[in-house]
This record gives sequence, structure tokens and C-alpha cells, in this order.
Amino acid sequence: MRFATIDKVATSLCPVCLRPVEARIFQDGNIVRIAKNCPDHGNFEDICWSDADLYEKFYRYWNEGKELEKTSSIGDNCPFDCGICNHHKTGTILANIDLTKRCNLSCPVCFANAEASTKVYEPTLVQIREMMTRLREVRPVPCPAIQFSGGEPTMREDLPGIVAMAKDMGFNQIQIATNGLKLAKSFDLCQALERSGLNTVYLQFDGFTPEVNIALRGGDVLPLKLKAIENFRRSGLNSVVLVPTLVKGVNDGEVGEIIKFAVENLDVVKGINFQPISFSGRVDQAERLSKRITIPDIFRLVEEQTGGEITRDDFYPVSFVAPISRLIHAETGISRPVFSVHPHCGAATYVFHNKGRLIPISRFVDLDGLFELLNNEVEHFDGTSVSRLKMRSRIVSELPRLIDESGAPEDLNIVRMLLKVLKNGTRDSLREIHKRALFLGTMHFQDLYNADLERLQRCGIHYATPDGRIIPFCTYNMIYRKEVEERFSVPVS
Ligand code: SF4
Ligand code: SF4
Repeated sequence: MRFATIDKVATSLCPVCLRPVEARIFQDGNIVRIAKNCPDHGNFEDICWSDADLYEKFYRYWNEGKELEKTSSIGDNCPFDCGICNHHKTGTILANIDLTKRCNLSCPVCFANAEASTKVYEPTLVQIREMMTRLREVRPVPCPAIQFSGGEPTMREDLPGIVAMAKDMGFNQIQIATNGLKLAKSFDLCQALERSGLNTVYLQFDGFTPEVNIALRGGDVLPLKLKAIENFRRSGLNSVVLVPTLVKGVNDGEVGEIIKFAVENLDVVKGINFQPISFSGRVDQAERLSKRITIPDIFRLVEEQTGGEITRDDFYPVSFVAPISRLIHAETGISRPVFSVHPHCGAATYVFHNKGRLIPISRFVDLDGLFELLNNEVEHFDGTSVSRLKMRSRIVSELPRLIDESGAPEDLNIVRMLLKVLKNGTRDSLREIHKRALFLGTMHFQDLYNADLERLQRCGIHYATPDGRIIPFCTYNMIYRKEVEERFSVPVS
């Protein structure tokens, strides 16, 4: 457990010249702010976290993680030595490969900012295979999960073949990040992707009104999103995560409706991943502060718009689940990626639907007690079979004490379910939970205004690039994307 000092000196970047600059992270009322100065470009200030109490609470779930092996560069000049360099603290939990820069939308809030050009970034199949080979070589844990993104990955005719290639290469979680337009228009494509081994569709989904969709996507795309979900259902692609990009004053009133919609479609929609907007290019302070949403704002919106059925106390940082990976390793001998990402990067909870109400898992499982138990057990495990048996029996006997069955949804044998997950940690054991529960998550991608190297160095979501580098996600979008795309673009013809 680690306690936060909110007032601290951090390293950030100048949003104009990108040079590393000293930043101060400090408490102002109950808000945590970041302020920095570049000798050439002046002062910049932004909000990092809109709830200082929660900022401190989340810090307690810090997880140190493990040293990486077989890194590709020496990281003496972070963040310009990616990577992955010898100083990076978290292995690749999820890798992104951009399959193309082409897109059939031109969204004002796009990371990739796919503008018209005479050249296009679109790696060849040979390059894609090389990138995936590199990811599978990562040690101590080969990258288990891959997301194909873009641009719009469905613009490539060979997408099903690429998914099948990933499956053959041993990725056990394969997903695409898509706007869904082509999938709405082609049931055959949905079916081909399902047959190729696609596990999850990350579907951009910002809300229900034409105004919201026009503001964020340039058109009223909702009917196509609904049609795409229908096609997923029919084709057996039944693991969809809705991904709303949240902008204050644009779609922050849609949170409750999106949750309601997800619950009504729980047979296909397994989760929602809210992404607060991050800014690219030069954005003045007034505009940033008027649109900026941070993770605690999302908790507040969820709480307000679900009538208090889900509250901020039901969310835990991503790093909270790190002891589970350690336990599974102790149980099975198989290494799992350790979620040692920074506690201020993302948060999540599981919510069960029961008799018209939503019940977060934290209402009937003492999660803090559970993770203390796991941490203790894993710490005392000495690698022998006797020790493993003792650890297992203590967990089995202690677990019921941490669960209030009377508060749990009906017909949910939560003790059995949790034991299965803790023992195997496989997709199959999680599947039972996903049948009944909705995953609610959020990740606040960084931009040049709120960048904090402490967060960048612990990133577990990485990009693979055609030159063999593995680059942390936020670093890639802030610093490397342009250079990589220019270097590897080919003429459109
Ligand atoms: S962000 Fe990570 S990989 Fe990149 S230079 Fe810094 S520590 Fe190394
Ligand atoms: S992608 Fe960005 S926000 Fe997410 S873990 Fe990495 S550094 Fe943190």
C-alpha cells in the first residue's frame, strides 16, 4: 500500500515543443491540478483529477509490478526512448496495431486524426506478422491480447485473415476498435470475423441524440450502431464493449442512458469503457477547462444518472486486480500480465442486474478484504506443492467470510464463481460472470496538457510499430504517431 502526497513535483511535457518540463501537481480545494512552465512557451495549467480524496484513496492500490526482460532500448531520455525500454514498469497487457489510417468517418475527436492525404499508413501483412511476432516474444509474459485499430480497421478487406493470423499466433484475446459502420452494412463481414476468432468488438458509441453524434462524429450514426449490434447478435459476436468518448457539455448527460441500453442488451453488450476526451494539437486553457472530464467526474455522472445505484465507492483502480495475476501464477505456474498500471489511469467495477436494479459487486463482496487475503497468501507462497495446498485451502475457507450472500443477486453462486476465476483466471471462468454482469470501466488517456511521466512509465497498453518498437499508448499518440505514420506510409495508389 502506498500513500499519496498530492503536492508533488512531477515531470511533464511542454505542449508546444514537447521538451520535458518540471510540473507541480497540487491540491486546490478538492481538485488536483497540474501546473508547468516551459521557458520558451510559458505557463500551462490543467485539472488532473477532480476529487482529491479519491486521488489519495486510489494511490493506495499502487502495484510495483515486475521488471521487464528483453527490452529494446535504454531509457535514459524518457519518453523519447520507447521502447519498450529497460525503465518501463509494466509489460504489454493489451497491444494495439493500427491496420490503416483510412476511415469512413472524420471525427473531430479522433486520436488518429485520419485526414485526407496522398499517402496512407497501412502496414502490409508481412509487417503485421512481424509486429505480432515481436509482441509474442515479450517476456516475462508474452502479450496475450491484441486490438486492431486505425483509422477504421474494417476498411481493410483482409481483416478476417488478420484476425485468424493473430489466433494462430497464440493471442487469446483479439478485439477490434471500430465505428461499426461497415459492420452495420455487412452481416457477412460480422460472420467472417466471428469465424476467424474475433473475441470482442470495441464499438464507438457516444449517445443517443443526433446532436451528440453530429458533434462528435460528424453525422447521426446511431441507427447504424444499432444495426451493427443487431448483426453482432445474429452472427454470434456476443462480446461487445461500448466505448463512449465523453466531452463535458456535449454527451455527459448520456451516461445513464448508455448504461441502461447496455443492461437491456446484456446478451451481447458485456461492458462500457468511458473515455474522457483527451486533446490533441493546441487547445487554449479556457476551452480545455470547459470540456475536460476526469475519472472522478465520470463516477459522479454514473452516480447521478443511475439514481445512486452505482456510486464512486463501487469503482476501483485497474491496478487493484494485480494480486489476481500473482495468485494465478502461483496456482498454475503460468505467468499472467501484472496490472501494475498507474492507479490514476483507469478504474472499473462489475455491476449485476437483478429484479430491475443494478447491484455493483462491491455491495456483496468485501473487495478490500479479498485482495488483502490474496496479497497475504501470495506473499507467503514459497513455490512448493505443500505451500500451494495450504494457500488454496485458506482461500477456500476464508472466502465465504468476505461475501454477503444475502446482498447478492438471486441464483448467483458467487463463491463458486470467484473460486473458479481465482483458480484458472481464464476467459472461460470469466465468461460465467460476464453472462450476468456488466463491466463498467474508464481510462483517462493523457494528452500534452496533463501528461505525467510517472503514469507513462507504468502504461500497460502499447502500440506495436513496423520498425519493431513497442510504444506505450499515450506516449505514442502524443509523440510518436506522426513520425511512425510518415515513415511507413505508402502512396494511396
Ligand atoms: S515511456 Fe516507458 S518505454 Fe518509453 S522511454 Fe519512458 S519508460 Fe521507456
Ligand atoms: S494508455 Fe495512457 S491512460 Fe492508459 S495506462 Fe497507458 S498511460 Fe495510462
